Amino acid sequence: MGFLDKLLGSLSGGRPPLASSISVKCNRCGEILTARINLANDLSGEYDPKGTLQFYTCRKVLQGNGRCFQSVEVILKYDPQRLLREKEIHGGQFVED
Ligand SMILES: [Zn+2]
Repeated sequence: MGFLDKLLGSLSGGRPPLASSISVKCNRCGEILTARINLANDLSGEYDPKGTLQFYTCRKVLQGNGRCFQSVEVILKYDPQRLLREKEIHGGQFVED
């Protein structure tokens, strides 16, 4: 079901680009970490009991290259049109562009 939705969405979409990136700052060392999000592949659909798509979620865990072992967890929530609606972070802060 989810796969079919994605397939149909990508065929009928015409909404490029289906990718975005997000930057966060590690709370522990201050390193800026960037994650690329592929809106066609990285989102998991959440359905109600009737099978209607409610929203998409995307979870990313980012870790820097330095000596810091703190990982920063980001949870993004998108509406069925794949527009970002909510974001949550653990271990860091969002860096606004
Ligand atoms: Zn760090």
